[in-house]
Amino acid sequence: MQWVALLAIAVVLPTVSLLWFMSRVVANERLVVRQKLAALYQDKLADATTRTESLFATRLAGLDKLKPAANPYSLFNRLVVENTFQGMVVWDPDGTLVYPRSADILANDVSPDNPLAGAWEQEFSKQQYSEAAQFYDRFSADGDPRVAIAAILGKSRCLTKLGRLDEALDECQKAAFAASVGDGDPPLRLTVENARLLLLSLLKQSSQPQLRSEIFRRTINALTSDLYNPTGNRALLPAFQNLFIAQKVLDALRSSSLSDGVNAKDTLEKLVAAEELSIAAAETVPSIAGPFDGLFQMKLDQKPVYGLRHKIPSSTLLVLLSNAGVKSVLSGYHDAFSGSAAAYRILDASGGFVAGTSQPKGKPFATADLPSGFPGWKVELYFEGGDVFEKAAQRQIAVYIWTGVLMILLILIAGGLATRAVGRQIHLNKMKNDFIATVSHELKTPLASMRVLVDTLLEGNVRDETQATEYLRLTAKENERLSRMIDNFLTFSRMERNKKAFTIVDAKPAAIAHDAVESVKTKLAAHNCHLAIDIADPLPELPADHDAMVTVLVNLLDNACKYTTDNKQISLKVFAEDGRVCFAVSDNGIGLARRHLRRIFESFYQVDSSLARKVEGCGLGLSIVKFIVDAHKGKVTVESKPGKGSTFTVRLPVGPGPKNGD
Ligand code: ADP
Repeated sequence: MQWVALLAIAVVLPTVSLLWFMSRVVANERLVVRQKLAALYQDKLADATTRTESLFATRLAGLDKLKPAANPYSLFNRLVVENTFQGMVVWDPDGTLVYPRSADILANDVSPDNPLAGAWEQEFSKQQYSEAAQFYDRFSADGDPRVAIAAILGKSRCLTKLGRLDEALDECQKAAFAASVGDGDPPLRLTVENARLLLLSLLKQSSQPQLRSEIFRRTINALTSDLYNPTGNRALLPAFQNLFIAQKVLDALRSSSLSDGVNAKDTLEKLVAAEELSIAAAETVPSIAGPFDGLFQMKLDQKPVYGLRHKIPSSTLLVLLSNAGVKSVLSGYHDAFSGSAAAYRILDASGGFVAGTSQPKGKPFATADLPSGFPGWKVELYFEGGDVFEKAAQRQIAVYIWTGVLMILLILIAGGLATRAVGRQIHLNKMKNDFIATVSHELKTPLASMRVLVDTLLEGNVRDETQATEYLRLTAKENERLSRMIDNFLTFSRMERNKKAFTIVDAKPAAIAHDAVESVKTKLAAHNCHLAIDIADPLPELPADHDAMVTVLVNLLDNACKYTTDNKQISLKVFAEDGRVCFAVSDNGIGLARRHLRRIFESFYQVDSSLARKVEGCGLGLSIVKFIVDAHKGKVTVESKPGKGSTFTVRLPVGPGPKNGD
């Protein structure tokens, strides 16, 4: 039990320690992989931040490079078309709003001293268009270009209302392309632009397609070149009026089939959208006060727009960037993390989503601030499709686990082997103890009887010479029995140590049989045992150890006598068969049950029957027989029936046998 407990500890302890060690290693591996990957992603994050910083700086440098503009629309045009901003608000260095201005709204209405007041009354109040047209006509060559052009425009309107379209068109063209627009007078310019818009609507109704498209193109060109890129000293219109005209032009372009107007339309589209945003921004951010060079979020027309205040030598700017515009500055993050296992999400100062994955799963494993151009903005890193750290660690962990499992298996196998070895050792120890007990017991019996006989003789307690001789004969017999027993023990001992060296020489089977019979003769006679000997003649010689083979036969004959009750009939037959010499010892004794047959050749095995136990013996005889026969490359077999008797047959090969010392 002690051994078993020790072995269990020897197996369980290292296994438990190994399992503990493995769990530590696995936990450590996770940590290491996590740290490694986290460091990797931190590096990527740092790279992306640096790239973003430089992209942002480039954008700012782009603003710094802007040359002072002749008028705000030139600046607006460059910012929107060339620098892809989505709008702007401009203040001059004193803080006065330069663009988009709405203060000096043009007076387009009728003033009491206006020479055209009478004509307008006839046109709008009395709706006498023919008279009104004549009235207007009188002023069409007025010295004041404002009056003259307004008069021509009025005449054209009246002619249109009278259904005289062609005449109206002619008149309208005169107003629309009046040479004197460039004098920087806003009301005059507004009148001319109105004339051009009227012209566009008249052209729609015109029946001359050829003429229509030609004048249309000319009108559109005149309008667009004046709108966001005013040349010379073109009068500047307030932003909302400029926007109104631009929207009308855009409508006209959208509904026209003018192919060369596509580019113009796209550009105009951008500019119109930018101007809408700029007007809204100027209302939301009325002054330039606020931090410079940092993006901040605004909501204009329900759209999230980002603003950036920046100073250039000539003015202070608030440039507008749409979400897409900001994303282009943040492209460094996209480049760094697209295709990697990590997803990123950029949030602005108010926590609004800007770029990356809008609704990533789980919690961010790293967070960082964006560069200074994005105050309060954050970038968060998430895992896409599970914990990438876990995945990376998994492979290494599998290696550890398999190694651990292998080690545990080895420990178990080693433990199993050790248990078996220890079990054997325990068994052997038990056998040795039994052996010593048996040997002592077996030696005690002949010694005791010899002592009694010798004591009797010494004391002279004998009747006559014959009795004394009988006692001496008995003593000699006991002595012989003792010698045989000791011989067996020694043989067994040598056998156990596997040191028995047999002297194999050519031996005569008949001589072996005779010597064996000689050795047991007296004993058999004492037990009233009849021994029949049948030795075939001739017999081939055997390569055998003569004495050892005598021991074999003596043991078999001894057993035959021991395990036979009344009328003991024993036979010893020696004959040749199939190139072998066979020694067969038969008896008519108690026989053996089937289940014992296999085991009787084991050391110390004894059949536990009442008769078997009555006789002397220690269960070594047959194991010695088998050992010697095996050493001769022979075979020993037994045939037996309980109550009928047994036959033990030893078969030895005749051919060249084992050499000395085998
Ligand atoms: P032992 O010293 O007990 O005789 P052996 O090894 O010679 O030891 O024999 C082993 C057992 O085989 C014996 O205990 C006995 O029960 C059985 N045995 C051996 N020879 C015979 C036989 N001729 N007839 C019946 N049983 C036998």
